[in-house]
Amino acid sequence: MSEVKKMDFTIGKKIRESLQADCQSCFGLCCTALNIAASSDFAIHKAAGTPCPNLQSDFSCQIHHKLRDQGFKGCTVFDCLGAGQKVSQTTFHGQDWRQFPEVSEKMFRVFPIMDQLYEMIAYVAEALSYKVDSSLYNKLHLQLEQLQRATELEADALLAIDIPTFRLPVNGLLLETSEQIRQSHIVKIGKNTRKYDNRGVDWMGKNLKGKDLRATDLRGSYLIAANLQNADLRGVDFIGADLRDANLRGADLSTSMFLTQMQINSAQGNLQTKLPSHLKRPSHWVV
Ligand code: SF4
Repeated sequence: MSEVKKMDFTIGKKIRESLQADCQSCFGLCCTALNIAASSDFAIHKAAGTPCPNLQSDFSCQIHHKLRDQGFKGCTVFDCLGAGQKVSQTTFHGQDWRQFPEVSEKMFRVFPIMDQLYEMIAYVAEALSYKVDSSLYNKLHLQLEQLQRATELEADALLAIDIPTFRLPVNGLLLETSEQIRQSHIVKIGKNTRKYDNRGVDWMGKNLKGKDLRATDLRGSYLIAANLQNADLRGVDFIGADLRDANLRGADLSTSMFLTQMQINSAQGNLQTKLPSHLKRPSHWVV
């Protein structure tokens, strides 16, 4: 029988808040390892394993302060949550791929795997910050430990990980968390006739200005360029939702669930937008 954990909802919050990229400790892995197709988000095509031409010898970006103006909006959106420094400093013990080219090919293949492990850790840590029941808390805790152990593996063991096999139980637990927490929001709001399950809905460009969408399931929804200005989005599950260019000005996302920095970075907002404590207001959001 698995050990029952003492419930402490601050642990998940602390872990979630600690997941921040430290580009100074990374060997420019997001600018090198990933395959990026030319689009409105990235001005050039770049193959996986090829350094971006803007990457400097010290792994900083030579157009860092003008990325959006020069057609590299996608670079201001990406967030590895700390996977880059983990691969650089732990998996490869600080061996820089420029000085040790023999490790480069393996390092670039490990990075996307670590990135996905970190993404799952962020979601599970967030789930652990909610007041779920003890059975779910225990399962989330065990899942978090398994994911954290995986990030400590050697490069070859990381490359052998089957990510879909990891994702399956994580998705199940996140779904269970979402159901429990949104239900508690619905009870507080008081049931009304509106629909709370809008999973995968296509609301691209839809005008939802000022709407009360509290506790709605918007998993995997298409909200590209939707107008959510001043909308009440507390308790909304946003996992996998596409928020590119969605208007979040003045919206209340303070207790939105499973919202990521990348989703926020890709949307439009302002100083009045309320965000969960683990997310930062993007510098491109204007007053
Ligand atoms: S433009 Fe800058 S931030 Fe974007 S991939 Fe190239 S070096 Fe990295």
